[in-house]
Amino acid sequence: MRYEMTSASSVEPRESCGLFGIFGDAEAVQKTYFGLHSLQHRGQESAGIASSDGEFIRCYTGMGQVSRVFRSGSGLLEKLAGASANPIAIGHVRYSTTGSSSPVNSQPLLSEYSYGQVAVAHNGNLINAQLLRDEYEAYGSIFKTTSDTEVITHLLAKPTHVSNPDSLAHILNHLQGAYSLLFLFADRIEAARDPYGIRPLCVGQTEKGSYVVASESCAFDLVGAKFIREVEPGEIVRLDEKGLSSRFFVKPGTVTPAHCIFEHIYFAKQNSLLFGENVHEFRKKLGRGVAIEHPVDADVVIPVPDSGTSAAIGYAEQSKLPFDMGLVRSHYIGRTFISPDQKLRELEVKLKLAVVKEAVAGKRIVVVDDSIVRGTTTRGKIRTLRQAGVKQIHMRVSCPPLRFPCFYGVDFPTKEELLANNRNLEQIKEFLEVDSIGYCSLEGLLSCASLPAESYCTACWTGKYKIPVDVAMNKFALER
Ligand code: SF4
Repeated sequence: MRYEMTSASSVEPRESCGLFGIFGDAEAVQKTYFGLHSLQHRGQESAGIASSDGEFIRCYTGMGQVSRVFRSGSGLLEKLAGASANPIAIGHVRYSTTGSSSPVNSQPLLSEYSYGQVAVAHNGNLINAQLLRDEYEAYGSIFKTTSDTEVITHLLAKPTHVSNPDSLAHILNHLQGAYSLLFLFADRIEAARDPYGIRPLCVGQTEKGSYVVASESCAFDLVGAKFIREVEPGEIVRLDEKGLSSRFFVKPGTVTPAHCIFEHIYFAKQNSLLFGENVHEFRKKLGRGVAIEHPVDADVVIPVPDSGTSAAIGYAEQSKLPFDMGLVRSHYIGRTFISPDQKLRELEVKLKLAVVKEAVAGKRIVVVDDSIVRGTTTRGKIRTLRQAGVKQIHMRVSCPPLRFPCFYGVDFPTKEELLANNRNLEQIKEFLEVDSIGYCSLEGLLSCASLPAESYCTACWTGKYKIPVDVAMNKFALER
């Protein structure tokens, strides 16, 4: 059975997807299921697993969170494991950045062509998908989805590409944009990362020696695997019976990376290792930096949970102010909760975040959040805090003002909808109804990172896109 849901327009930026794969493990399907659970924060619209016994690939995808798609008692995991305990599997959780949220766009995307079967799982956004699709359609190709990922299977199937000695490396050179990809062929997994390394992808190994690959290392902990290393930008890592092997489809060192630093600020889980460092520690550093840049006389520091918590700890440490939980998040409301009008949206904010009155009433508080997108959600939180009797509210944000949309795999609102677009700090303060506002500076943000500043993408603050984009592009460009 498949479920269909629609998606609300994005109030918070949303990650595009999470990937997990494992080779040579009798519990590959079960482990993929658990791996996807730990990557659930990267996409909640659909989930899917494809498995192989070495000769034949089976695939199941559905709408909703992992536990809903592979619900207990459904027997789906057993069917995917098959009688021979299929030892190869990949999985995917999705939030749509190109194409609508619908069953047909859920992944892995299983196809069959002259070479055999292939299942593809993609995290990112191909900025030349429309162009490629137009070319194929002009020659009569039929597409069954409206997601950018499907052009990849058409590229693979093109006869002149199939005959190439390394057709995978060859076709990856046709793609532009952000892509971390898992390909499941009947006998192997191939994991690839775009030459800019925009979205994360890493490799690990279980105690029994099976190789695993995932968007974030937090997925390894749950399946008893250890982080080995990141897949390098422009690299293909192959997992097969011989073990792990690597090749590059772009000469290493010829492209300056553009790692998405927003992964560190907002998307990734605190226990993940990303671009060489731990996410929680990075966020604490950001919080300390904001406290130095924007000190304030206050009684207590409170985070907007969950992604603002680490930065708030850093702010409290640096400012020597007490830290408290003035807001608590309900984890039972998914990100796909739909708010059709403003009144219900305010109710949604209250449902998601409840105020602990005893922690904040009568106090001057510093509220630390990771980012502000449209500002309506933040203003809702501020109003709820005022109603609880807070004396002063000082808003601190652990990234610079977001002014430009993302075209590399994060679903942002349009430029016009972003709070900081065409508003100065005073106007932002008035909109949010706070007593003061302080954002982390871009220099402050980059100084917290372990890699050189030029290794990161910062386009949503600067408007400087390292891979040129058509700014008129939208996520439904491939819908008819
Ligand atoms: S534009 Fe922003 S969210 Fe998108 S990849 Fe760059 S840093 Fe990340």
